[in-house]
Amino acid sequence: MSVDKHRDAPSTRQIHHDYVAPAGFGAVAPGVFRASTVLFESVQAQRTANWVDKSAYTYGLHGTPTSFTLEARLATLEGGTHAILVPSGLAAIALVDQALLSGGDTVLIPDNAYFPNKNVAAHELARWGIAHRFYDPMDAGSLRAALGDDVKLVWIEPPGSVTLEFPDLRGLVRTVRAHAPQAVVGLDNTWGSGIAFDAFDLDPDAEPALGADLTVHALTKYPSGGADLMMGSVVTRSQSLYERIALTHSRLGLGVGPNDVELVLRGLPTIALRYAAQDAASRRIARWALGRREIVRVLHPATPGSPGHEHWAAQCRAAAGLVTLEFDPAIAPERVDRFVDGLRLFGIGWSWAGPMSLAVPYRPGSGRVGSGYRGTMVRLSIGLEDVDDLIRDLEAGLATLAVR
Ligand SMILES: *Cc1c(COP(=O)(O)O)cnc(C)c1O
Repeated sequence: MSVDKHRDAPSTRQIHHDYVAPAGFGAVAPGVFRASTVLFESVQAQRTANWVDKSAYTYGLHGTPTSFTLEARLATLEGGTHAILVPSGLAAIALVDQALLSGGDTVLIPDNAYFPNKNVAAHELARWGIAHRFYDPMDAGSLRAALGDDVKLVWIEPPGSVTLEFPDLRGLVRTVRAHAPQAVVGLDNTWGSGIAFDAFDLDPDAEPALGADLTVHALTKYPSGGADLMMGSVVTRSQSLYERIALTHSRLGLGVGPNDVELVLRGLPTIALRYAAQDAASRRIARWALGRREIVRVLHPATPGSPGHEHWAAQCRAAAGLVTLEFDPAIAPERVDRFVDGLRLFGIGWSWAGPMSLAVPYRPGSGRVGSGYRGTMVRLSIGLEDVDDLIRDLEAGLATLAVR
């Protein structure tokens, strides 16, 4: 390819320009590359380029220097070796399901899991002849009973999505290895984020390593930190799992945009600081809530008395900024809704790990909440506001409930 200054028109010369900026621009932030078309030096280079092992670029969908950089950093964050980016955390779950399951197989899902994970199984996988069963992640016997030769994928999600019970991760993985060695263990690492625990090394003394085979992560949450984008990832240490999932990913065309990748790369250097701040704030709010008579249970893995607290204490270094309050069942759900409506600083909305604190009420029996709870739940996702301001806001809201 070359330009002829005398023969080519101005429009052509704007597209085929000779100037190449000097290499070696030293900025702290990685450059942002955007591409559908990727150019090859020759037809021979195009025919032999391999994107699966990341030794070459072939097409925008198959990766750019920008997406490869984010993938490498995420793999490091979570203790894996390979990462794949997808348009949302939910897409990461669905991609793993589609890559690993065929008609006649069964996937196991914790009964307190992120609700849309159950919906993928019930409404999409079921149509392709893939079965699903739920298990109680707080009861090793329940997982054991659900395992069988048909089980090819077991999801683990610490902690429960709304009720925040923290399971015995090592026990769950050991149970799968002992009774269904053919099954892949997939761990939803959105809450842990690579910071609270090591999903691929759950027991530092275990040899070989004891841990998940792959993780999914809603980058929408902590890695972004801005409440301003959707993205997900799949991370693994296994070359063969990576290749299987990467090929399904490319066949399904699940690309991500460079601007969003750039925003996640911008969020990652501060992830540990933001995680620590929201961890500390949520512990303070959990401690405050323990003293309130309107609240019968404080669900927060790092708070003593919360279900699975002992598992959290044995396995984790930190806790994310989520705390769920179970209100006294004597307080009507409509009044709890009004309490949430009346909060000044808590937004009403899904997701978490952004700058603004959020509150969402859940009624028991709604399908999103596990069994054994009778009061209305309010899940708080603590943002980056001053925690004293947040507590004052919650106190003012509880005062309107006027529980004696
Ligand atoms: C938010 C979330 C997801 C889904 O992520 P999206 O990017 O919103 O699709 C998956 N798992 C867990 C545990 C989550 O909290």
